[in-house]
Amino acid sequence: MKKIKKMRPNIKVIYTGGTIGMVKSKDGHYVPASLDRLLEYVPNLAEIGANLSFESFDKPLDSTFVGPNEWLEIAGVIRNQLQQFDGFVVLHGTDTMAYTSSALSFLLKGALKPIVITGSQIPICEEGSDGVENFYNALKIASDGRVKEVALWFHKSLYKGACVTKVDTKSMNGFSSPNHPVLAKLSSGIEYENTDEKLEKSAFFLDKINNSIFVLNFTPGMDLNLVAQWLESNTFKGIILSALGLGNLPIKITDLIYKQLFKMKLPILVISDCLKGGVEIGKYEAGHALSALNAISGGKMTKEAAVTKLMIAVANFNNEKDVRDYLIKNQVGEY
Ligand code: ASP
Repeated sequence: MKKIKKMRPNIKVIYTGGTIGMVKSKDGHYVPASLDRLLEYVPNLAEIGANLSFESFDKPLDSTFVGPNEWLEIAGVIRNQLQQFDGFVVLHGTDTMAYTSSALSFLLKGALKPIVITGSQIPICEEGSDGVENFYNALKIASDGRVKEVALWFHKSLYKGACVTKVDTKSMNGFSSPNHPVLAKLSSGIEYENTDEKLEKSAFFLDKINNSIFVLNFTPGMDLNLVAQWLESNTFKGIILSALGLGNLPIKITDLIYKQLFKMKLPILVISDCLKGGVEIGKYEAGHALSALNAISGGKMTKEAAVTKLMIAVANFNNEKDVRDYLIKNQVGEY
């Protein structure tokens, strides 16, 4: 019998910028540098055992400047090359990495390939950087192929793409998915868990984003009349209310802000200002305004998932019912 040689997986790396590839400018600020410069600090890439191919944003960005256009650009590269590659690694800044991983999760639902996004807290060119390790582990996961969805690797954990949030500005352990177990973790090697969850069997790709949405955070004592006046002069397509606890708002249905929200007839998506547990609209009387507004429960969604899901919903579906149906449904495990 013939021995069958194991094929090396083909992996596409997409470099967008972020701390991982940054250097200090003359004024002492961190600025993104080129992919070639980043790769100078990554030894032994051949040992990963994959055929790597690279692509970079024309101008690598601090992720502060990554938004809908870049999400569509990354999703487009992956969509167009989905058949040629066994997996994808996206190198990205940490500040908005969870927004990008959420957006990619919705845009590339059912891709059924590993799409692993990662970065680092310390530039790869500096001592003590977490860049090489995060990059290697993301490549290993993309090559392994067991995870067939968008996921975010950081430090020692792999998080589901639409369930993750940045929780620490400094620690190497900068991310968490408070309402969802990790997909894999690093101990002696990478141990996979919870990768058998049902995933969409066929591709449901979306390619439009409309950023005319707004997140309104409620804090005690805020001047809601001012907010109501401001809302009156705006033309949003949807609004996210970040409510207190389980889904409570300091507003009554006689208040100006209630009347304004009612008049706008927008899809209203409700998330909690707490990291864990999600919302249950109407459990308290203080959530009554939300029930009266026919607001949509965001369940256990992170802010990142809610923002990207709403932007994608209002762009891809024309009528109120379809937008609502999309928002209410658990699309990629975010709910
Ligand atoms: N400002 C940086 C960025 O998000 C921070 C980082 O990458 O850690 O691009």
